[in-house]
Amino acid sequence: MGKSSKDKRDIYYRKAKEEGWRARSAFKLLQIDEEFDILKDVKCVVDLCAAPGSWSQVLSRKLYVPTKAANLTRDEDLPLIVAIDLQPMAPIEGVTQIQGDITSIRTAELVIQHFRGHRADLVVCDGAPDVTGLHDMDEFVQSQLILAALTIVTHVLRKGGNFVAKIFRGKDISLLYSQLKMFFPAVTCTKPKSSRNSSIEAFVVCEGYNPPEGFEPRQLYNLLERASGAYSDLDCCSSWLEGPNKIMIPFLACGDLSGYDADQSYPLPVHETTDMEHSVYQSLAPVQAPIAPPYKTAKELERKVGKFDFST
Ligand code: SAM
Repeated sequence: MGKSSKDKRDIYYRKAKEEGWRARSAFKLLQIDEEFDILKDVKCVVDLCAAPGSWSQVLSRKLYVPTKAANLTRDEDLPLIVAIDLQPMAPIEGVTQIQGDITSIRTAELVIQHFRGHRADLVVCDGAPDVTGLHDMDEFVQSQLILAALTIVTHVLRKGGNFVAKIFRGKDISLLYSQLKMFFPAVTCTKPKSSRNSSIEAFVVCEGYNPPEGFEPRQLYNLLERASGAYSDLDCCSSWLEGPNKIMIPFLACGDLSGYDADQSYPLPVHETTDMEHSVYQSLAPVQAPIAPPYKTAKELERKVGKFDFST
C-alpha cells in the first residue's frame, strides 16, 4: 500500500523511518520522557497496547540495550519489559510479548506471572480503539481502555511508581481525572510536540502511585465488567464530580517547542543528481511491516480473485 504525499511530508513519519522506529509514536514517548524523566531508574515496565512496537523499541533502546551492553549485570538483573497487544508484534530485543486483551483479567494475571514477584516501576499505555468518528462513542471506548489499563496498574505497579496513558480530551474527561487522582497525587495532562494539534489525543502522566487505604484491585474489574454490560457505571460515579471532588489537572506541552511542528508539512529533501530536473525524494521502506494486519484476509482474497470492483 503506497503512502500519500501528506504522510511523506510529515516530518515525524520520515524521521521515524530514518531512525528505525516502527511508528512515529516513538517521538511522543521520547518527548514525554524529556519533560518528565519517567524512564529514570526503571527496571520493570509494562507497555500496554504496544503494537506495532515503537514505544517498546524506546523502552528497549533506553533501558535494556545499554544495560546489556555494559555487561555488568546477571541476566536476572536486566530490565524487564513486558508488552501486550491484541495484535501480534515482531520481536524486539529484551521485550517479552503477550498477545491479549487488556480489558481481560487473564491478561493482568499473565503480566503478574512474568514479573516473578517484582512490581513494575512504570506502566505505559498508548491504547486506542478503532476510531468510528462518532465522538461520544470513541471517547467512551477510549475511557474504557484507560480504565482497563488502570486496573492492570493497580495489580502490578509498585507504590511510588508512574503511569502514562493516552487519553481523548472530550467533555467527560473530568471523570477520568477524578479516577486517576484517587490513585496518584500528581496527574498532568500533556501534549507532545509530535502529536498533531488536529487530534484530540493527549497523555496523562500520573506520578507517585498511592492507592487509597483498603483499596482492593479487584473492585476495578467489577467496574469494567459492569460498564461493558447493559448499563454504565458512569451514573453511579458522577457524584465524584461534585464540589471539592471536581479536580483541576495542570496541562503542559512537552517536546522542544521550537522543534518540528506535527501539523506542518515540510518540503521533501531531494537527493541531488547531476540532472537537477529529475532529483527525487527516496521514500524509505517501512521499518517493520505489520505481521498480521487486519487487512490480511482482504489482500489474500485480492491475490486469488483479482481486484474487487465495487461499482457494480
Ligand atoms: N504504542 C504503539 C507503538 O508505539 O507502536 C502504538 C499503539 S496503537 C496507537 C494502539 C494499539 O492499541 C493497537 O495496536 C491496538 O491493537 C491496541 N489495542 C486496542 N484495544 C486493545 C485492547 N483491548 N487490548 C490490547 N490492545 C488493544
